[in-house]
Amino acid sequence: MDIDKLLSANVKKKSGTKCMVGSALAKLDSATKAKLVAAIADHDRFTAQGIASVFTSLSGLEMSRSPVERHRRGDCQCPK
Ligand SMILES: [Zn+2]
Repeated sequence: MDIDKLLSANVKKKSGTKCMVGSALAKLDSATKAKLVAAIADHDRFTAQGIASVFTSLSGLEMSRSPVERHRRGDCQCPK
């Protein structure tokens, strides 16, 4: 068994869906964006639902917790 082939066949697939969090962040000014990026990284102070509520209030677009959870896991197309 070739370990390199085995590993490359099992690389995590990038989600084809556009990341709502990433596209919402892209529309914000850099100061707001920096604060939100920090909040997204802060699992102790902010739940995914809490971050989603902030985005909903900021943009007026309803966001559920699942895009935030996916973004936090890194299962999206955003640059890491
Ligand atoms: Zn993302």
